[in-house]
Amino acid sequence: MTDPTSIVGGPPSGARGEYGDLIPIRPASTGKPVVCLRGHRLELGGMTATYNHRYRLHATLCETCRTLETCSPNARRRAEWAHLDITRQHPADTAPTGGLVLVALPPAVGAMTGHIELRLDAVTVGAATLTCCLSCRTGSLDDVHVVPERRRLGYGRTLVTAALARAPAYTWTAPVPASTTGRAFRTRIEVPRAGAVCPHRAHESPECN
Ligand SMILES: [Zn+2]
Ligand SMILES: [Zn+2]
Repeated sequence: MTDPTSIVGGPPSGARGEYGDLIPIRPASTGKPVVCLRGHRLELGGMTATYNHRYRLHATLCETCRTLETCSPNARRRAEWAHLDITRQHPADTAPTGGLVLVALPPAVGAMTGHIELRLDAVTVGAATLTCCLSCRTGSLDDVHVVPERRRLGYGRTLVTAALARAPAYTWTAPVPASTTGRAFRTRIEVPRAGAVCPHRAHESPECN
């Protein structure tokens, strides 16, 4: 007797978890990638250029990692990673609603603090909060947050790069958070700790006016 459920040809959509197959991301760089996330030199071990339909982004697959992960099914999946162009930061009203995109939310009039969101299919999965002072030419990366179920995919790092890219000539600082998770992330980011608040920010009008 044929199992009637076999007619559908496999488990129902979402049975493996809607986001079960998300691969890591990194900011896109110009030119071909040189090393993989594990440090294998792609020129020596081989690579395949791929396209990730979930994110709608181009990706790279390290052949050395692919072999490693096939031999150790429990290894963390890092063979393939997608490239997000951090210079493409969409206005909220015209941001694509499919795939993984950055959305820039500039400061309100009279305020200095803005946000960059990372959205997957129009759902916010991470955000950076940044304060820039045009007079002092300084930037403060006030906060970087990634929803807990989307961590360890490079979203936080990519948000940091996207924030700093908004004003590359500025002097950037960032506070060191008290939480263990926040501190573990922050201490891997190469930005000095926050110093004195600039006089303009001290007089900043509240965002909720
Ligand atoms: Zn590799
Ligand atoms: Zn200032």
